[in-house]
This record gives sequence, C-alpha cells and structure tokens, in this order.
Amino acid sequence: PTTPPKHFLRTLIENDLAKGRHAQKRWAGRPGPAHVQQAGQPDPARIRTRFPPEPNGYLHLGHAKSICLNFGLAIDYQGACHLRFDDTNPEKEETEYVESIIDMVHWLGFDWRFQTEENLYYASDYFGYMYEFAHALISMGHAYVDEQSPDEIRAMRGTLTEKGTNSPWRDRPAAESAALLEEMRDGKHPDGSMVLRAKIDMASPNINLRDPILYRIRHAAHHRTGTQWCIYPMYTFAHPLEDALEGITHSFCTLEFEDQRPFYDWVLERLAEQGLLLRPLPNQYEFARLNLSYIVTSKRKLRELVAGGHVAGWDDPRMPTLVGLRRRGYTPASIRLFCDRQGVSKSDSRIDYSLLEQALRDDLDAKAERRVAVLDPIKLVITNYPEDHSEPCQAPRNPHEPTVGERHFLFSRELWIERDDFREEPPKKYFRLFPGNTVRLKYAYVVRCTGCVKDADGNVIEVHAEYLPDTKSGTPGADSVKVKGNITWVSAAHGVRAEVRLYDRLFLDAQPDAGDKNFLDYINPDSFRTVQAWLEPGAPVQPESHWQFERLGYFVADRVDSTPEHPVFNRSATLRDSWTK
Ligand code: ATP
Ligand code: MG
Ligand code: MG
Repeated sequence: PTTPPKHFLRTLIENDLAKGRHAQKRWAGRPGPAHVQQAGQPDPARIRTRFPPEPNGYLHLGHAKSICLNFGLAIDYQGACHLRFDDTNPEKEETEYVESIIDMVHWLGFDWRFQTEENLYYASDYFGYMYEFAHALISMGHAYVDEQSPDEIRAMRGTLTEKGTNSPWRDRPAAESAALLEEMRDGKHPDGSMVLRAKIDMASPNINLRDPILYRIRHAAHHRTGTQWCIYPMYTFAHPLEDALEGITHSFCTLEFEDQRPFYDWVLERLAEQGLLLRPLPNQYEFARLNLSYIVTSKRKLRELVAGGHVAGWDDPRMPTLVGLRRRGYTPASIRLFCDRQGVSKSDSRIDYSLLEQALRDDLDAKAERRVAVLDPIKLVITNYPEDHSEPCQAPRNPHEPTVGERHFLFSRELWIERDDFREEPPKKYFRLFPGNTVRLKYAYVVRCTGCVKDADGNVIEVHAEYLPDTKSGTPGADSVKVKGNITWVSAAHGVRAEVRLYDRLFLDAQPDAGDKNFLDYINPDSFRTVQAWLEPGAPVQPESHWQFERLGYFVADRVDSTPEHPVFNRSATLRDSWTK
C-alpha cells in the first residue's frame, strides 16, 4: 500500500489532533443535544466525519469522491465516519434510494460502524430537536415568523450591490412567533403562507446572512415520518444541527457551501451560548467537487437520462452512477484508486475520463484472468491440418501472476479469427494475415496465408492458411520462423458462444453540460452495440467476474443477464486510452 497523497484536509486534521482540539468531546453513543452528550463518556473517536447523502437519487462518481474522502480520513486517523441520510426534504425522497445508497457505500468497501457504534443515522430522526432549537432561537430573539409571500421575501433580499429590506414582521414579539410556529406545526396554515426566519442582518454583504429561512410549511408525506410533520427545516439550518447532534468534528462540504459557512457557525454558536449544544462545535471545511469529462453528475440530469429513455436505467453501464459503473465492470478498488489519485483541492477543475479508465486497468491488470474472445468472427481454415484432429495449447491465466497457473484449450483445423486480422490487400504496416504473409497464431503455430473464399457478392467468407509444423509455441522450433504479426483465435469446434455488449462514451462532447448547453443535444447515438462472439472454452463464467480478453480490453460478465450457461459480457474499458486525442 502506498501512502495517500497529503492534502490540506489532512494537514488540518493533524493540526487539530496535535492541539487536542476535540479531546474534550463527549459522546453518548447516540445523537443528541447537550443534555444527551453530557451524559456520555469521552468520545472514543478522535475525529468524526460524515457522508450525508440526500436519498433522492442514486449515488454517482461525485459521491464516491466524498465517500472515499470522509470514510478514508476516518480510517486513516482512527476516527468514525457516519452515514447520515439527509432526508429533510419530503417530496423527492424514497426508501428505494436509501437502500441503494447503503448498498453502494458497502460495495465501495466502507463501513459506518465504529467499535460498538452503528453510526447509521437519519436527519429526520432529529426533527423534534430541530423544532425545539427553532423555538429556542425565537425566545432568544434570533428568529421570527414572517408572513410575507415567497415572492416578497425574495424581492426584499436585495442583491450583491443592494442591501436587503427588513420584513414588516421582523420585530414582532417572540411570543407571537412562538405561537405561530406551533400553529405551523399543527397544520393550521397552508404551504407558502409563512416561514420561520433567522434574525441576522438584512444589510450583510453575505446574502446568506440576510435573515435566511429556517422552516417552511409543506403538507407532504415523508418517506419515514409520514404525515407527522408538515413543517420541514431548510437544508442550511438542518445541516449544522445534524453535525452537532452527532458530535461531528470535521464537516467536509463542496465549495458551493463556502458562503454558507458563516451561517453554519452562527446557528451553532447561538445554540451553544444557551447551553443547548456542547462545545467543541463541528467545523465546516470545503473542497472542490469532482467533475469528469464526458459525463454529467447532477442527479437531476441523470434522472432525465433515465426518464427520457436515453439509457436503460440507473444501472445502465454507460451511467456514471455507482450502480452503472459496477455493471460496466468498475471494481471498488479502481474507484477508490481513482479518487485517491485526484487528491483534494480547493479549486474546481474537470478531470479527464481517461484517468478513471486507467485506474481500472491498473487494478485489473494483475487481477483479471485472460481469455481469448473473437468479437467479429471470420473462419480461418488450416488446409494442411488433419480434419477431426485437435491438440492442446496452453497460456498463462495471468502473465503477471505465474502462481495462478495455466489455461488449456484446443487447436484444430477450423478457427475463428477477427475479421480485421485478414486483408486481401494489406495497407502499409499491416503485419497480420494477407496472402503470402506469415503470422503467429498466439500460443499455437506460425501459419502462412494462402488466400480466401468469397461469396457471390465478393465478401470474404473464409480465410485459408497452412501451418508450419515445427513452429508451435513452447517447442524448440518456436523461434525458427520470425513473424511480425501475432493474432488471437478460438477453435471453431470448441469455442463458446457469448453475447458481448460494446459500450462507448454516452456524450460526444467533453463538457456536455457546460455553460448553457443542453446535455441531451450531445448524446452519442452509437454508444452501445451488441455482438455475438466466440469465447475460448474454460471454467464456467460467473456473473460479475472480470476478464481481460487478449488484445481487446477488460470485460465483466454482466451481473444481471449473464449465466454460466449463457455468458453475457460488458466491455469495461479498452486496453489503451481512446479518450484523449
Ligand atoms: P447532485 O448535485 O448530484 O444532486 P448533491 O450534492 O445534491 O448531488 P447529496 O446527496 O446532497 O447530493 O450529496 C451527498 C454528499 O456528496 C455531499 O456531501 C456532497 O458534497 C457530496 N457530493 C455530491 N456531488 C459531489 C461531487 N461531484 N464531488 C464531490 N462530492 C460530491
Ligand atoms: Mg444535496
Ligand atoms: Mg445538488
């Protein structure tokens, strides 16, 4: 194992640890405000991070970055990382997404358990605390119920250059706001009729501090709390509370939340001042999100691809979702390797897709067994080889891992080769089969091409060659004839039929959603095709097993459609980079 690259978040954690910044922290084994935590023991976790997905879609590569970062740092510094569902928005959230997220975090190789703690949390479990905190802010004069319409509130927020204007409800008595908040909770007011706002500063240069909304009314059923609540906290209010209740030490967000940090601190300070939250409080830090060329990662856009039938589903092998990447043949190790290699930075950039593929090649090269497959078959007849005869050949299962041994298959008179490995009239520098040329049939004999057979339309339907008997690989005569071409083959009498799905990039443009571009305009119409291939025979192919088909690339047996009897493969990546031009 190599030491992970040092980045600013590591430096920050190491400084905090050196200063004993979180040494006084207490943890009762369950999230809670000061009175719960006070009852706890000194926190056994040196740091606590969290991965807080909103269960409103499937995880994608961007989330993998956040998962690897948060769980990875917790592991490296012997701390805990919580998996927390940020389910404070009733309308778009579903249990189906919760289950998939749990699955995928495990699949990536991470666990939220720390010692005896389970550390799987739902923000919706804190609705009661959040509601109490809202009342506490009102009673301290830090929040008020505003009865302006959403449009009025927006209009009075001001702009970057213009200060905001105070709401006419801003100075209403705390008791009145408290009573109204209770009525809001009791369902006495319709959606949009009033909100709870923080009372901070309508003239603040940071627009996020101009009396941000804390609670809004939504008469909607929530996937966990049902109709128990009809008011829901805003994300920006809920998030710092979730972190504090769980005793998080380092809350890592993407850069777009940088301007929210003063509000994050404001909320926690106000409540800590009243002894409702225990110090030390969590701190928010920001890092640049992961952007990759040739893909989109916004959940909304991914949903459009699925809903519009542009892909076969969330787990379509062309999707940058983790379920899609898994089906495409990406391994957890390759995704972790990719995320580690990118490190963490403070400035936005777009990473080349080829780096993701390279991480997969680097992971699979030493792990994937080799086989030969012929994707576009044409018959090669060895005219001087006896009919009804065959002989064994052998090849390494993995040339980097001699200990895994050899594979064995048969050579015979009729073979399948790639159509592209024969040319009647060879272009320059073509070293494969053409009349008069000699090539090696990999792991078998050198053959000399003698010609071909064509159908009535002039299409080549069969290639003919003669083998040179003393040249078999692994025998003393193997090097007696020098050849420049080395081609793969499958014995026609012994090959196994296999369906192979060839995937290519889903978008033709490297930045399909940059600026005001509509990403749907850049969909690659040829991103998928299926071929019937011939596969070297061998042990049954298990679903989700990874293979290198020699000369062709890395392939995975499809985890949904492949069976040992009828193998179906997805091309995960070619052997060489086809992305950078
Ligand atoms: P999207 O914008 O795709 O809908 P999101 O940020 O709304 O994603 P959440 O479920 O709220 O999705 O995200 C969970 C965590 O994953 C957050 O902490 C967020 O910062 C992080 N995350 C999401 N996308 C990326 C990304 N591209 N790079 C790094 N982290 C990301
Ligand atoms: Mg979000
Ligand atoms: Mg988002």
